[in-house]
Amino acid sequence: MEISENGPERLYDRAEYIKSFTAQVVCVKEDDKGYLVALDRTGFYPEGGGQLCDFGTLGGLPVTDVREKGGQIWHRVPQAFTQGDRVEGVIDWDRRLLMMQQHTGEHLLSGIVHRRYGFENVGFHMGSDGVTVDFDGEIPAGELSALEWETNRAIWENIPVQVEYPSPQALQQLSYRSKKALTGPVRIVTIAGYDVCACCGTHLHSTGEVGMVKILSCQKHKGGVRLTLLMGQRAMLHYRQLLGSVAGISALLSAKQEEVLEAVQRLSQENTVLQQQLSDLRKESFCRRLDAVAPQKVICLLESPGLTPVQLRQFCLMACEKAQTAAVFSGEDGAGYKYALGSSVLDVREMGKQLNQALQGRGGGARDLIQGSVNARAEEIRRYFAELSEQGRDGQ
Ligand SMILES: [Zn+2]
Repeated sequence: MEISENGPERLYDRAEYIKSFTAQVVCVKEDDKGYLVALDRTGFYPEGGGQLCDFGTLGGLPVTDVREKGGQIWHRVPQAFTQGDRVEGVIDWDRRLLMMQQHTGEHLLSGIVHRRYGFENVGFHMGSDGVTVDFDGEIPAGELSALEWETNRAIWENIPVQVEYPSPQALQQLSYRSKKALTGPVRIVTIAGYDVCACCGTHLHSTGEVGMVKILSCQKHKGGVRLTLLMGQRAMLHYRQLLGSVAGISALLSAKQEEVLEAVQRLSQENTVLQQQLSDLRKESFCRRLDAVAPQKVICLLESPGLTPVQLRQFCLMACEKAQTAAVFSGEDGAGYKYALGSSVLDVREMGKQLNQALQGRGGGARDLIQGSVNARAEEIRRYFAELSEQGRDGQ
C-alpha cells in the first residue's frame, strides 16, 4: 500500500470526540527509540499549535508520541506492525479531555483579551501542570480579576463551540484571529460572542465543559505578558491541594480557615519577639562566659547551634576586647560549626587559612575578622586552639 500524498484521514478533525477507530498500517519505520507507524486514518491528534499529542493504544501497544512530519502522522509504538495490518486505535480519553479543557479555555480567554485590548495571543504552551499564554501587550494588573470573571461567565453560559471550513468567499468576509498566514481550507472555531479563530486543534462541544479557568499569575514577558492558567480538572485539583494546606494550617493554629492569614501574621509577630528575646539571652549568657575567662592572648569559645553570622561577628568582637585574638564557634558535632575569627594585632586571613586546612573549613574575610565554617568536632577545635596558645607562649 502506498502512503497517500494527502496524508491520513484525520478523524479528530470532524469528530473531535472520537475515542476509538480502526485503521490500516501504511508505513512502519524503525529508529533508535522504537517504531513509528503511519495509518490510512487516525483519531490521534499530533502535537501542534501548542496542544500536546494524544496518548493511547494501537493494536494493544502503547502510543507514547504522535507527530506530524512530511504530511504524515507518525505514531510511536514499542513493537513493529506489518504494512497492511488492520489495527484498532484507542485514545487515552482522560488526557484528551484534559487537553481540550485547556485548549478551549484558552480560546475563551484569548478571544476576550483580543476584544477588550486588541492584543494577540503570540505564544501558547501546555505544560504538565499548567498552561501559559503570551500576549503582545500588557494587561493592567488591576483588570485580571475582571478578565478571569468574564472568562468564567462565558463557561457558565455553556455556549456551543462551532468548527467549520467556510468557503473562500465567506472566509474573506470573516474577521478572525490567526497565528500565521494560512493557505488552503481554513478551519474556523467560533464561540459566539467571544472568539472566532483559525485553529486545527481539538475542542470541547460547548464552553461549559471547560469547567473553570483560573489565572495563577501574570508576568511581564517580551513587551507583553505571560499568563499562567489552570483550567477544568487542573483548577479543581489545585483548589483541592490549596484547601488541604489551609485545612492543615487551620488545625495547627486552631484558627478558622477564613482567618488563617491573620493567625499566621500573629504567629510571625510573636516569633519576631521571641527571636529578639532569645538573641538578648544568648548575648547575656555569652557575656557571662566571657567574664569568667582569664585574659589571655588567644580565646576560643564554643557556643551551641543557632548563632547567626551577625551574632557570631558581634560576639567575636566582644571577645577581642579581652584577648588579642579570639574565635567564636556555633554549632554541634556532626553538623559542623560556623565561626568568626578576629584579632586586634594579627592579620587573621593567614591564620584562617591554616584553621580551615586543619579543621576542614572554608571561609574568609578582612584583615581583622574572618567568618566561615568547619567540619570538625568540638574536641578537635579545642585541641587546635590549645596548641595555638602553646605555640604563642613558646614564641614569647
Ligand atoms: Zn483551537
